[in-house]
Amino acid sequence: MNAIVINTGTELLLGHVLNTHLQFIAREIFPLGFRVARQLTVPDGVAIQEALSEAFCSAELVFVTGGLGPTSDDITRDATAELLRLPLQRDATVISAITARLTARGFPITEAVLRQAEVPEGAVVLPNANGTAPGLYLPSAENRPHVFLLPGPPRELHPMFRESVAPILQSIRPAQRLEARTFTLACVGESVVEAAVGEQIQSLGEVELGYCARAGEVDIRVLGGRAVLDQAEALIKRAFPDAVFTSSGESLEAAVVRLLTERAQTLATAESCTGGYLAHRVTNVPGSSAVFLAGHITYANEAKQRELNVASSLFEPHGAVSEPVARAMAEGARRKAHADYALATTGIAGPAGGSGEKPVGTVFIALACRTGETIVEKSRFLTDRETFKQMTTQAALEMLRRRIIATLSPQ
Ligand code: ATP
Ligand code: MG
Repeated sequence: MNAIVINTGTELLLGHVLNTHLQFIAREIFPLGFRVARQLTVPDGVAIQEALSEAFCSAELVFVTGGLGPTSDDITRDATAELLRLPLQRDATVISAITARLTARGFPITEAVLRQAEVPEGAVVLPNANGTAPGLYLPSAENRPHVFLLPGPPRELHPMFRESVAPILQSIRPAQRLEARTFTLACVGESVVEAAVGEQIQSLGEVELGYCARAGEVDIRVLGGRAVLDQAEALIKRAFPDAVFTSSGESLEAAVVRLLTERAQTLATAESCTGGYLAHRVTNVPGSSAVFLAGHITYANEAKQRELNVASSLFEPHGAVSEPVARAMAEGARRKAHADYALATTGIAGPAGGSGEKPVGTVFIALACRTGETIVEKSRFLTDRETFKQMTTQAALEMLRRRIIATLSPQ
């Protein structure tokens, strides 16, 4: 069942307020079997009626947010009633709720305030536990789809949605429901993903396929019935047996912390070009204290020597951004913390500092393991400094994650 969301508010179109209602409503309704087909943002004023009449023709469900309050720019209720030719009547229960709320706060009951108690004929009042203006639900009829008029302030909208709107949606939801599954892969390009699974998934039939790429990871999103999603999942897992790190929205760092926790293993970090971002990401995960022992930020060569015992003889021939220095950093950090693993990063984030041999974006990532083995990977991420840090830490976490799962899977 298709929904149209109309967000009203001149402040949204001036860029003063970020429209968060679309995301909120879209996420809430999808599991109930509804999808946002289109969204319109309109300024306060006549544009609301234009948007409504357009939406009434094409959607089965319309959500309007904002413009239910007492001020002269709040015209959603009147605009809807006028368009649908529904008389407005003041509702005694709403009047007493508004009166009780405002009297308790010592505010006067004015004519403007009482406008909020006006209810179009046939509408169901959705109580507002956090404000004065109630929401309104107009069940579908000959000339209209199901219509919900909802308050603008998020702290009023969210509880009202969960308490009053969701139960109504439950009662009108379609029998046939789509499911969505999202598989997230680290350090694989979206075109590689598409080339590997795109056509095969499309040929499964009634399935919608989409990709969403971020720095260092990509989501494969499939929508459809359960049977076809099971087939798509099997295809993806066969094509990428190791790369899918989550199908539940877990972050890569959370997946790594989970794997380490399950195995009672520990981690230390030694960072140059990522400036502590790797440790930051790991320690953002609740429970990381069980696995994360120590993080070093060693930016200067001298700090790498002092804190990690990187031999000074390595810098002269190889430079700080080199395979031997990355290796020595990881090994130094692992030994110092007595950790099972240590990750190290050293690279040239740019914009300056590159050379012919080591251009800007070059990075070495090392993983030292308790077994005595150290793996070093050279990569190049040519981007801005922040994205460089994101991609480097992504590669480092993925290196560790792959190592953990490879160690434990039967050979
Ligand atoms: P009120 O009774 O407060 O006037 P209202 O239902 O008339 O409520 P609006 O006046 O449109 O709603 O908006 C009230 C406030 O809610 C705005 O100042 C804005 O901060 C917030 N708001 C409105 N729409 C959105 C939106 N789409 N996303 C995020 N915040 C919003
Ligand atoms: Mg308002």
